Amino acid sequence: MPDRSPIPLLVPDMPSPDALAPYLWRMHEARQYSNFGPLVREFEARLWEMFRQGAPGPVALTTVSSATSGLELVLSALDLPPRSRVLVPALTFVATATVVLRCGHVPVLADVDADSWLLTPEIARQTLATTPFDAVMPVAAFGAPQPLTGWEAFQQRTGIPVAIDAAPAFGSQAMDARLGTVVISLHATKSFAAGEGGIVVSMDAELVRRVREGSNFGINLDLAADMPVGSLASVGTNAKLSEYHAAVALAALETWETRVATRRALYWDMRARLDEAGRHQLRWQAANDQCAPSLLCVRMPSAAARSRLEQICAAEGIGTRRWYQPLLNTMSAITSQCVLLPAPCSAGVAADLIGLPFYPGMAAEQQQRVADAVQRAMD
Ligand SMILES: *Cc1c(COP(=O)(O)O)cnc(C)c1O
Repeated sequence: MPDRSPIPLLVPDMPSPDALAPYLWRMHEARQYSNFGPLVREFEARLWEMFRQGAPGPVALTTVSSATSGLELVLSALDLPPRSRVLVPALTFVATATVVLRCGHVPVLADVDADSWLLTPEIARQTLATTPFDAVMPVAAFGAPQPLTGWEAFQQRTGIPVAIDAAPAFGSQAMDARLGTVVISLHATKSFAAGEGGIVVSMDAELVRRVREGSNFGINLDLAADMPVGSLASVGTNAKLSEYHAAVALAALETWETRVATRRALYWDMRARLDEAGRHQLRWQAANDQCAPSLLCVRMPSAAARSRLEQICAAEGIGTRRWYQPLLNTMSAITSQCVLLPAPCSAGVAADLIGLPFYPGMAAEQQQRVADAVQRAMD
């Protein structure tokens, strides 16, 4: 009997209750559950040590309740006039565009690079020649890091602010330029997970200060400010990371190095199997260093081969997903209020991209069943 047990697309890699217990006890004894408590502050200090490595200048960071709320706070902290145009890629998760709309701005949907599947500084530069825009929100799509030095040069040359949606890029997006703001997600499905949560990291300390203030309703907590503590300095929201989430994050951080090594090894193992099964006709995202992969996405040789693979996987109980699809430029909730630019490369990627099962603990037999499905789907 062939093995037909289901193979999930993704299994969150979260700390066990036992690993959480010491942190939960600390929280319980301190009786503080949110509002930048001791666990959040400890988590932020640990993150700061990680991000300052390799950074050419001082790094500032703050935690938030999700990457989406972090992006919204960063965008509002830029203080752009209402209905400013923000360049975003057509190939991304919906939140990149909803953030722009919720801030009262207009998404300009640009194409991505054919090889890296990213909205690059080069594309932004070319777009600017024909279509003006006021800010850019490039995306570290599928966890591939954005080139910070390239964006630094873009920002210096044009004066246009850049804020990177690096939600899926914890562990791969480095702070390696003198200018740069990135927002990272701690959602359960990402490689480093706290259940829900986010991090805003920037070389701009004042921007981070405003985001932190904005994540706490906009209330001034600075004794040195020229207004009383407790008065409203800006119109913010509640986007604080709770102590519960910081407890999970701290526990996850303890084993991060081994977890990420497991992910990397599994990724390259899977990729070798799939390349062989796909007779070396599969296409992978260039410029993705796969430092901390959370997904396995590949382009099949044709749309027909992808459809066959989806049918085979459905019959075999193997999870698949068309990540980041439908494209933003096909969803009316977005297109009714955005500027559409031609996006042939995004459409090309979307036509045959498929996400296949990938999670720590995936057994060799499960990996082989996925590879066998790919082999059967080939033309
Ligand atoms: C996961 C993801 C988000 C959303 O992150 P949350 O922390 O769940 O808000 C946004 N953008 C991209 C590109 C993502 O992959």
